Order: sequence, then C-alpha cells, then structure tokens
Amino acid sequence: MSFDSLGLSESLLRAVNELGYTVPTPIQLQAIPAVLNGGDLLAGAQTGTGKTAGFTLPILQRLSEAPAPAAGVKRPVRALILTPTRELAAQVEESVRAYGKYLKLKSTVMFGGVGINPQIDALRRGVDIVVATPGRLLDHMQQKTIDLSKLEILVLDEADRMLDMGFIHDIKRVLAKLPPKRQNLLFSATFSEEIKTLADSLLDRPALIEVARRNSTVEAIAQKIHPVDRDKKRELLTHLIRQNNWFQVLVFTRTKHGANRLAEQLTKDGISALAIHGNKSQSARTRALAEFKDNTLQVLVATDIAARGIDIDQLPHVVNFDLPNVPEDYVHRIGRTGRAGATGEALSLVCVDEHQLLKDIERLIKRPIPQEVIAGFEPDLTQKPEPILRRGQGGGGARQGQGAPRQGAPKQSNGGGRPSAKPTNGNGGGGGGNGGNGGGYGSRSQKPVAAKTGGNGSAPRKPEGSRPAGAALLGGKPRSEGGGGAGRRDTPRTGQRGR
Ligand code: AMP
Repeated sequence: MSFDSLGLSESLLRAVNELGYTVPTPIQLQAIPAVLNGGDLLAGAQTGTGKTAGFTLPILQRLSEAPAPAAGVKRPVRALILTPTRELAAQVEESVRAYGKYLKLKSTVMFGGVGINPQIDALRRGVDIVVATPGRLLDHMQQKTIDLSKLEILVLDEADRMLDMGFIHDIKRVLAKLPPKRQNLLFSATFSEEIKTLADSLLDRPALIEVARRNSTVEAIAQKIHPVDRDKKRELLTHLIRQNNWFQVLVFTRTKHGANRLAEQLTKDGISALAIHGNKSQSARTRALAEFKDNTLQVLVATDIAARGIDIDQLPHVVNFDLPNVPEDYVHRIGRTGRAGATGEALSLVCVDEHQLLKDIERLIKRPIPQEVIAGFEPDLTQKPEPILRRGQGGGGARQGQGAPRQGAPKQSNGGGRPSAKPTNGNGGGGGGNGGNGGGYGSRSQKPVAAKTGGNGSAPRKPEGSRPAGAALLGGKPRSEGGGGAGRRDTPRTGQRGR
C-alpha cells in the first residue's frame, strides 16, 4: 500500500516522497482517510508509530482545499495542535513545515520559557496552523493575542502525557473558549479513566484507531548502557566494534560536528565509517547509505534528523554514542533494531554528563536500562558532570540543562524550504535520504466506534457503518505509571514556572 491511494494531494505526496517515506504506517493508513472524512478521531498510538504524519498530512490537505485568503487579508488560525512538551511542539511544527513545504499554509510554534513577543508577531502576521503547549496558549488567549474563533481542527497529541503532567485544567480552559463546531483529534498512548472522560466530553462519534508500537517495541529490544568516561567513548566504541566484529553499526551522535569527528576518528582506527547529517549533500548521503547497506561501510554515524530518511530496518547494532536531548528520539533511534523478531541490540555509551538524560529516557520508556561496565573502561566515579553543549561542540555554548528552553524563538513557516534544523541539538535539517519505509510498524487491531457521548455541535457524520464498530479502544489499557513526564514542558497553571 503506498501513499498514493490515501487521497492526499500531489504537493503532499511530493513532500512525503522527498522525506523518503514510501509506505504509510498502520496509523497513517487508518488516520489519514478518517481525518479527511472530517469526523472526530480517537487514536491509540505511541511515539514512533508515525502518528504525527497521521494527523498532519490530512490536516494540511483539508486546510489547503479552501481558497487562500485574498491578498492583504490576515490568515485565521484554522488548526491547533496541543502537545505536552516544548520539544514535541517544536518537532510537530517541524513536521508540519516539512510535509507542507509545497503548500502555501503557514504555521508557528509557541511554548513557554521563551519570549512571547516573537509569537505575538507571528500571530499578528497570520498563521493557519498553531502548534502549542497548553500553558503558553492560555497566556495568548488571556492576552487576546490569539484569535481562535475560526478554528476548524483541534488535535490533542499525547493526551495521556498532558494529563499526567497536570494540564487537564489548562486544557479544559482552552476547550471552553474554542468554537464548538470543529473537528477534534485525540491521540494517546494509554487510556486511563481520565482520558476516557476527556474523550467522552470532547469527541463526537469518533473513528477509533489503535496501533501497536513499531514492532521494535521498547520491550523487545535488547538495550544496554555502558557507563564510560566522556573522553573514553570513542575508544570504547572501537573496542566493541573490533572485539565483536560488528558490521552495519548505526551510531547516533547529538551534533553534526560530533558525527564528523567520530567518523574521522573511527576511520583512523581502521574502521570504515562515514557521517550523514543535514550539512552533507544528498549525493553524499545516498552514497554513504548505499555502502552501508551492502556492507562495504562498517559504521554509519548519523544525527537524529538525518537518520529519519534511512530506509534500513532490523539493523543488528544501534549505538547511542551520545544520548539524545529529547527522550522520544531514543525510542526512534533504537527502533532501528530488533524489528519483527530480528535479533538486534541498542547500546548507549553514557558518561557522567548524561545521567539526567538517561533518567528522562528511563521515565519515558518506564523501565530501567541494564548497565554493564566494560573491563578497561570503568568510569572514573570522581568525575564531575559538565554541561552538554548545544550548538556544535564549539566553546561557550549554552547549557543543555534541564528546564532550559530548547529553542530560541518560535519559527514561522511560509510553506517553503526544507525542514530546518532540529531546534536544539544542532543537527542539520534534511531528513532526506532515500527510500525509507519505516517498516515494522505493527498494526494490532482496528477498533470500533464508541457511542456518542459528548457532542459539540460538530459537522454531519458519515453513516455509522463507515466507521469501525465497537468501543474496545477505551477498554482496559493500563494507566501509564510514573507520569511519563520526561522532557521539559510548560508548567501547568497550578505552577507558574517556565511559561
Ligand atoms: P512519530 O511517531 O510521528 O514520532 O514518527 C516517528 C518517526 O517515523 C519519525 O522520525 C518520522 O519521520 C518517521 N516516519 C513517519 N512516517 C513514516 C513513513 N511512512 N515511513 C518512514 N518513516 C516515517
């Protein structure tokens, strides 16, 4: 099944194709037609399933179908996407821009911890799509710097995390002020009583979709941490590769500069390695990938964004040379291995600077990762953590410290250009690469229709028969434990930090 038959426009298909997506994931197969239908949607999907494109593509399609506003007429906000964390907001808006690169729609992202004025300016110029965290959105609503009276589509992304993080009151306050006639999409990895209540009050006869994580569930992947000193990481990596005679090792670094340097050092160690990242030309990336695939290149060093276009699954070895700043990226990275029962392992070389990042990851995946110290590489326990630099590894950079805003200012897209650099880690844009099937996304079940419980005067519905039937989605998924609050976020109304 390709993207062509899902009812998306040429412009969207072109963008998707350029990003290297060839096969829609199960959530995309189900969500795209459902959203295009105009009805509400309740989707059970975790990060890593391709859910962002699952709602972004049909939203872009729907919005682009309306005639563009006449010259000089300000664009009203027509779609609002709420996310629990700043990082997710930035990533989602990056996806909006990437998928909408051939459309004339505009988008912006807004979250707390950064100046509000650039956000106000963006709103004043007019945007079609706003991606926001709830706290900062409320600030705008209270200051009347955002007009949502023309809103057509609302998305609550990772709704369970939003509730775990205490955003329910903020969300309710936002919902109360939105125009009642709109399309609502709710995405959640888990379905607690609280989510069910929210879904009941928000959604009108929603289509119900549930997919499993990518087959490479976090549970199924052998994961290990090797504690090591920061300046011994390269040596340890060389040791592991040589000792075990590893081939097809995908190594992740946080920065483009780090990727280049590591590839050079490995090459000096006699291990064939190339780096791919946003500063590399498409032809260099394609060449590196081809060599990696046919096993002439032993190691591919990649940044998170560059790795998105890599169409190789079931890699035997994924190594996190640096832990990612965003915990979700860890899940994406390790999802490259161990798919569909293939053996694979994901190793992380973790130094003292990264202990907080590790905690965030373990909280997100809700399990501790086993640790193994390699003989000869025992970490010096007296070493003090040092701040992790953000842009490149050049001197004097900002701290990556927890709670620090990860993005200078919100971006506004004009619908052109490639996805830009990920906001914080200095990775280049790109996301290109060739091929890319995101394979291994396992569809667990298609679930049925919930009874209409809420109602918000929404648009006419398709006949019941056109939707999957039943209401099992809301039945009995375990409530997430431990809060899942990894990553920075805007503080809910009860606390005023970071807004
Ligand atoms: P998400 O679950 O939305 O966070 O997406 C997880 C990752 O899958 C992101 O890196 C996307 O770029 C990538 N992705 C989404 N859809 C596809 C697809 N159809 N084929 C390949 N990769 C995809």
